[in-house]
Amino acid sequence: LETQIEFNWMRGFTVDFNPETGMSKTAISTKRYLSDMEGMFADEKALKRAIENKNDLVYEFYNIGAPEKPCDLSFGTSVTYPGKVANEFFMTKGHFHTVLETAEVYYCLRGDGYILLENPEGDWSAQELAPSVSAYIPPRYAHRSINTGKVPLITFYAFRGDAGHDYSSIEKKGFQKLMVEKDGKAEIVDNPKWK
Ligand code: MN
Repeated sequence: LETQIEFNWMRGFTVDFNPETGMSKTAISTKRYLSDMEGMFADEKALKRAIENKNDLVYEFYNIGAPEKPCDLSFGTSVTYPGKVANEFFMTKGHFHTVLETAEVYYCLRGDGYILLENPEGDWSAQELAPSVSAYIPPRYAHRSINTGKVPLITFYAFRGDAGHDYSSIEKKGFQKLMVEKDGKAEIVDNPKWK
């Protein structure tokens, strides 16, 4: 696909998402490589080396162009690939919604991992994902997908069309917690750079 197909948001439409790959034949994904993730991982030197070495694709997701209105829903898949920077698992940048009081639903199609949640008051939790598990992201909570497994972590999501994405708060502050591998298992540790 060279250009995104226009979907009929007024009269209805269908769109395909492959549950094994998360990919669509009729929509174009947005891709985030390690070089798009500067400042996101705790070990900045390891990130720099990884960018120079191979610059892996960390995640991709679909934004299929939902009208930015409260009556519409944005939906699609998000695929976070397996991998680590030093001992920290591959993850999405994570974001708050610009309209903070808007929720989101994830449904896990494949893989193993977590959604890390955190609100502006500092309350946080890590919700575990596995195939067939659905997760609820309440209003006000920033969210980030983390792949702690060996295959792509694929989720299907839906949220209010006008919710918007605020990446800048996370870029400045990070999340309070990091998900790292220790003795072959996923472990949650404090983020030394969290302000
Ligand atoms: Mn969201």
